[in-house]
Amino acid sequence: MDLAAIRANVAELRRRVAPAEVMVVVKADGYGHGMVEAARAARDAGAAWLGVAVLEEALALRSAGDTGPLLSWLTVPGEDFRPAVAADIDVTAYTVPEVEAVTEAAELVGRVARLQLKVDTGLGRGGATGSEWPDVVAAAAKAQDAGSVEVTGIWSHFACADEPDHPANDRQEQAFRAALDVAEQAGLHARLRHLANSAAALTRPSSHFELVRCGLAAYGLSPVPQLRTSADLGLRPAMTARSSVAIAKRVPAGSGVSYGHTYVTDRETTLAVVPVGYGEGLLRSASSVAPVQVAGTKRRVSGRVCMDQIVVDVGDDEVSAGDDVVLFGPGSTGEPTAEDWAQACGTISYEIVTRLGGRFVRSYVDAGARGDAR
Ligand SMILES: *Cc1c(COP(=O)(O)O)cnc(C)c1O
Repeated sequence: MDLAAIRANVAELRRRVAPAEVMVVVKADGYGHGMVEAARAARDAGAAWLGVAVLEEALALRSAGDTGPLLSWLTVPGEDFRPAVAADIDVTAYTVPEVEAVTEAAELVGRVARLQLKVDTGLGRGGATGSEWPDVVAAAAKAQDAGSVEVTGIWSHFACADEPDHPANDRQEQAFRAALDVAEQAGLHARLRHLANSAAALTRPSSHFELVRCGLAAYGLSPVPQLRTSADLGLRPAMTARSSVAIAKRVPAGSGVSYGHTYVTDRETTLAVVPVGYGEGLLRSASSVAPVQVAGTKRRVSGRVCMDQIVVDVGDDEVSAGDDVVLFGPGSTGEPTAEDWAQACGTISYEIVTRLGGRFVRSYVDAGARGDAR
């Protein structure tokens, strides 16, 4: 994990969206990069906000020493908001009962709760619907007047921002502006309005408002890979997934490889066994399709991905146990990228990096900290 890359990506995003500020989203363990480390790198690079899905993640960031503005957006009925209120975490309400639960927590803790309201402008996921919105806004305005909460923001989330020309984007932006008008009329003047994720931050300036919420782009991956690569966007992938060859052996033509013998050697060749598999979060759909760099040469997973191992046919390359294997990385030395894996596996790079775990050991490099200006 290259922390200097995360810092450089956050700096690039800030430059692109200024004067709007950047929230770096570090949910799901920082998209597999390590939540606390990613959060520190983001703050070091001037991220005004951090965003997480659930309160447990927000509280873990506070325990790790983060004291800055921090938004959490996913709760379940019966959620205890008191620890979040006590820790100055901005919580999100979609419904009147949630506004009431946050108000009650504020009264119990004896502290003004920081509350953001989410409106569903067309994603069809979390957030108040258009018909519920006036009641949610009214309840929040009342709680704010009573001094229990401070409504710090109003926000929504795009469904199709990765397709910049999709008509839903304009519709959602209009619905968001209409929802903001309803709030204004109810006397709620939220300081922060935010709608954009990485894709919208990079392709849709009209959606920036005061703040953009960037996850994927902060980790250096393109949220619009069909239109722009990471390099096109001035971003550098922070994650490199590496292993080494456990066993290399010569086998004759006609040798079946891995479960089901879906791959059979067509000549005498060398097989390299690499000790990573779906136990480490590799997708089984990488079988026989995902690219892998073995001892400096780009190859392909040969046959099925197993729980703990993959096999790579390396032909007549001089490969031996202990040689370097790079599954994916920034691509700067010819290795495949997470985006290459996503395309091979029929998924998105989000899933490739976020799933990685198991017996992989995370380690961090920090080019900047060594005075390296790369
Ligand atoms: C995950 C998430 C984001 C970040 O999305 P990216 O596409 O990774 O930038 C932003 N906002 C919300 C509500 C999210 O759930």
